[in-house]
Amino acid sequence: MLFKGIPASHGIAIGPAFLLKVEELRHAKRSLGSSAAAADSEVVRFQNAISAVKHDLENIADSMGDVVEGRQILEFLLLLLQDPTIKKEVESTIHGGMVNAEYAVSTTLRGVMEKFNVMADPYIRERVADVKDVGRRVIEKLSGTEKEALKKLEKPVVLVAKDLDPSETAGLKPGQVLAFVTDMGGRTSHTTILARALGIPAVVGLQKITSQINPRDILIVDGIHGHVIINPTKKELKYYREIGDRFQEAENLLKRMNPGPALTEDGVRFELAANIELPHEVAIVKQFGVDGIGLFRTEFLRLIQEKGENENDHFNIYDKVASEMHPKPVIIRTYDMGGDKFRTGLDSAREANPFLGYRAVRIGLDRPEEFSIQLRAILRASVHGNVRLMFPMVTHVEQLRRLKDLLNLVQNELTSQGIPFNRDMQVGIMVETPATVLALDLMLPYVDFVSIGTNDLTQYTLAVDRGNPKVADLYDSFHPAVLRQIDTVVRLCHSQGKWVGVCGSMAGNPLAVPLLIGFGVDELSVAPALIPDVKKMIAVVTIDAAREMAEKSLSLETGLRTRALVHSYVIGKYPEILLDENDWKPGG
Ligand code: PEP
Ligand code: MG
Repeated sequence: MLFKGIPASHGIAIGPAFLLKVEELRHAKRSLGSSAAAADSEVVRFQNAISAVKHDLENIADSMGDVVEGRQILEFLLLLLQDPTIKKEVESTIHGGMVNAEYAVSTTLRGVMEKFNVMADPYIRERVADVKDVGRRVIEKLSGTEKEALKKLEKPVVLVAKDLDPSETAGLKPGQVLAFVTDMGGRTSHTTILARALGIPAVVGLQKITSQINPRDILIVDGIHGHVIINPTKKELKYYREIGDRFQEAENLLKRMNPGPALTEDGVRFELAANIELPHEVAIVKQFGVDGIGLFRTEFLRLIQEKGENENDHFNIYDKVASEMHPKPVIIRTYDMGGDKFRTGLDSAREANPFLGYRAVRIGLDRPEEFSIQLRAILRASVHGNVRLMFPMVTHVEQLRRLKDLLNLVQNELTSQGIPFNRDMQVGIMVETPATVLALDLMLPYVDFVSIGTNDLTQYTLAVDRGNPKVADLYDSFHPAVLRQIDTVVRLCHSQGKWVGVCGSMAGNPLAVPLLIGFGVDELSVAPALIPDVKKMIAVVTIDAAREMAEKSLSLETGLRTRALVHSYVIGKYPEILLDENDWKPGG
């Protein structure tokens, strides 16, 4: 039985299920009678519990070593734990209602969770898990029933839960927990980000998987594609063991790999870059040997900016990434909030069609003052000389003009303040909609480069929500309508002397690599874990064969036929390549 969710952290794991019972944040009410002394001692118990939890969280934070995101998340939990308003409310509930501390904590925090839950901003809604996490820990300390389940594990397991508390995730050891799968969770939850930082494969947002899994069921967790298989067949086990071994081999190989450039079979150097979201990924990327950062997604910054935009927070991160990658280029993409990503503020109303709504530069242009903070920080980091700036989701030339005007304004401001920046910093846009493709000739005069975001381009071309499993079989980046647009974009860019990259997930699909090379794109930018695979694919392709396949694909009727075409070429040269049969087998 296969379930599709959100691939939250890369890797493959196979193992027995361990179902974690997630307790609701509830506790029985006990009356203290009318003794003021009893109420005072409940308050003291509550304060002691807070100190004990503080101590535990600090220990977990210390054990995270240099996993910076982990420490930041725990710092946030600590802030929540010591929030004076919450503390005051618990204490006045104890005194006012003459009730036990456990009950006062549970009612107070459920009230906070309810408030968070109705917020339009998914970022705030995801903080509900943090409140629950802190509340549960305090209640466990108070009632002495501390949850030990995770610590008692003897054999490595796949953890199955409705949701995982961030501090529980932080306490997971990669050897003890093979992977985790959850009903809830999104790409941007603290738990998901931590899983990536800890290198534990994870699939989240599986909706009702907890009701389908029994203890000790064997699970395959494919954190690359977001698949979970319950009690797999022998064939599935064999296939995923191979993929898992290969993934592991690739990881090991990477540690020893000569970080040389990507070369085609006929010796042509091909530019290969990495997509990152967290600054610590730079260290991994550098071991792999890439030509730069082709896409630095900055939405995660929203996580550490609890109190609103802060120019120095932005700057410190951009500056670190730019200096560590120097002299290789780093393309920093401005915020792409909205759609399925973080929302910007508490006031943003729910939208019927978020992917067609208030997203990316649409928000930036609507709130130029906030947006300028990010632009200032990027410009300040540009002094290194290797920073490039990229705007996502540009659909109208007017937007592009306004974006350039805003950038100019910020540049003038920096000049008048005597703050240095690179005047020649390259500025580009993402091509993510058919409108951008069809009007690209009008936009190119304003930019130095473009990068094709095939994730959104596929979604908007085929009118298929990229995150909706019900229509996932229609989502196909090999569809002729998508391939023809890629061809058009490359031709247009080259006719005006502009370089063009691809940074959507298509760039990391082994069967797409020969095609994209054949279309003539100048750079592929892929998730760090996929770099070895893509390098290997580049190495088995000759430029002539790639061009021939790309040309042919433009006249094929279906995406499947194109994949079969590339597959028949690749399999002769790279017989050990592992691909999902459904990806290329006609009728498969
Ligand atoms: C894309 O749309 O292909 C892309 C790279 O951007 P994101 O996935 O962040 O929307
Ligand atoms: Mg996109």
